[in-house]
Amino acid sequence: MGKIESQLATAEVGHYINGAVQAGASGRYGDVFNPATGELARKVAFANVAEVDAAVSAANAAFPAWADTPPIRRARVIFKFLELMNQHKDALAAIITSEHGKVFTDAQGEVSRGIDVVEFACGIPQLLKGDYTDQVSTGIDNWTMRQPLGVVAGVTPFNFPCMVPAWMFPVAIACGNAFILKPSPTDPSASLLMADLWKQAGLPDGIFSVVQGDKVAVDALLAHPDVKAVSFVGSTPIANYIYETGAKNGKRVQALGGAKNHMVVMPDADIEQTVDALIGSAYGSAGERCMAISVAVLVGDVAEKILPKLIERTKTLQIKNGMELDAEMGPIVTAAALSRITGYIDDGVKAGAKLLVDGRGFKASGFEAGYWLGGTLFDHVTADMKIYKEEIFGPVLSCVRVPDFAAAVSLVNSHEFGNGVSCFTRDGNVAREFARRIEVGMVGINVPIPVPMAWHGFGGWKRSLFGDMHAYGEEGVRFYTKQKSVMQRWPESIGQGAEFVMPTAK
Ligand code: NAD
Repeated sequence: MGKIESQLATAEVGHYINGAVQAGASGRYGDVFNPATGELARKVAFANVAEVDAAVSAANAAFPAWADTPPIRRARVIFKFLELMNQHKDALAAIITSEHGKVFTDAQGEVSRGIDVVEFACGIPQLLKGDYTDQVSTGIDNWTMRQPLGVVAGVTPFNFPCMVPAWMFPVAIACGNAFILKPSPTDPSASLLMADLWKQAGLPDGIFSVVQGDKVAVDALLAHPDVKAVSFVGSTPIANYIYETGAKNGKRVQALGGAKNHMVVMPDADIEQTVDALIGSAYGSAGERCMAISVAVLVGDVAEKILPKLIERTKTLQIKNGMELDAEMGPIVTAAALSRITGYIDDGVKAGAKLLVDGRGFKASGFEAGYWLGGTLFDHVTADMKIYKEEIFGPVLSCVRVPDFAAAVSLVNSHEFGNGVSCFTRDGNVAREFARRIEVGMVGINVPIPVPMAWHGFGGWKRSLFGDMHAYGEEGVRFYTKQKSVMQRWPESIGQGAEFVMPTAK
């Protein structure tokens, strides 16, 4: 057992400030459960304003030297961190499974997608190159550089305790900022392991910090004058709040919110491929992914072909403790989430949707005290129903039937969320029209969960993203830097006397 793993076995998850783990001082704590067993695993400290101030102050003190470190030397630290992340991939995945519940192989996948962004950040010298124009006017040159912002914060959700923070911190740190993470209190332990790996990689103290907690910590970060930017990923009401409050306080904000992702299934789609895609994307990670497919839009007569196979596969999902390697789906994250999701299923039944597979009441044998729900499948869901309009964030797939492609596009475009979408078809023109006309930020053609790779950037449209820039990729570099334009002339080239008109190229 490594140093941090042994710390994780202790009763309290603390903060990470100025290069060291710190026990909570506020006297307020949250409970961290193992969702498969329902057991209380440990407590997590909730930071107060003074603890947040201490983290910001340490970060602010460390920032100037890190900002001044040449990008190639910053990249060398990130390369080392990359190596350590790869070495500790399984340890991180096991921590995630024990606090989130997702199956171990899926947790490994989450860590890998986080590592992708670390790899991207290793290219920071190239990404920060800026541009240059020789001779914008006679004897005058003009260039742009991108400089770090200072202390920046990331507030992240429970569903990806490694990957979503890693959408933010590798890029922020590579750009020369000091980063403070406020993880979800539901599964906080991965943050401390990553902090320890940064330290081992040689990152100066104060450049990566963690403050655990709830709204008190978030509000302290939003109010702090030395926090220059906030990245947020979570539910839409909180994303909206973070965006408004951060902007009011003069900060840069990118706030990624909730989702209701549709998969449009055309009558010519490959049925086997579509069923596999729907099962994996609706029930993988128990539907607790912001890119999970929660609505299947069945066009024309495809419903009759697809539903028997979908029912069969939903009923035979392998739902187990995520540490069992043949598990396809684990438990729901918390008892509260389980009760919220079953409430939605009750509501769908009352509203008249046809419940084809009912996951309520399922228990994994040997783990009866865990938060279990079976895969749930509805047909004849309509656009006015609450189960269609709202994000359920659980293993519940709603099928909506539409007559044709135009009706499918109109349905998707009318929804308030616009995170991800996919279209399954064999027709190239349908695929092309879909990608062009759909009002959603991330589109898959025969790809159910089109999460863009690390160098492309992640972000939805409409009420799935507040702010201007997507997470990671070059958008991330722009978010975490400010552009400066420099224009220079040397005395030898001066000599035209005072100018009182707007300068133009000469
Ligand atoms: P959440 O909004 O409840 O919490 C997210 C973060 O905000 C946590 O760190 C939490 O402590 C903090 N927070 C919660 N309430 C707050 C308040 N009142 N004031 C200030 N901070 C507060 O989200 P969650 O339940 O942890 O995660 C699930 C949600 O995240 C889903 O809606 C999902 O769609 C969304 N999500 C979106 C993306 C995306 O990229 N768009 C990715 C992952 C998750």
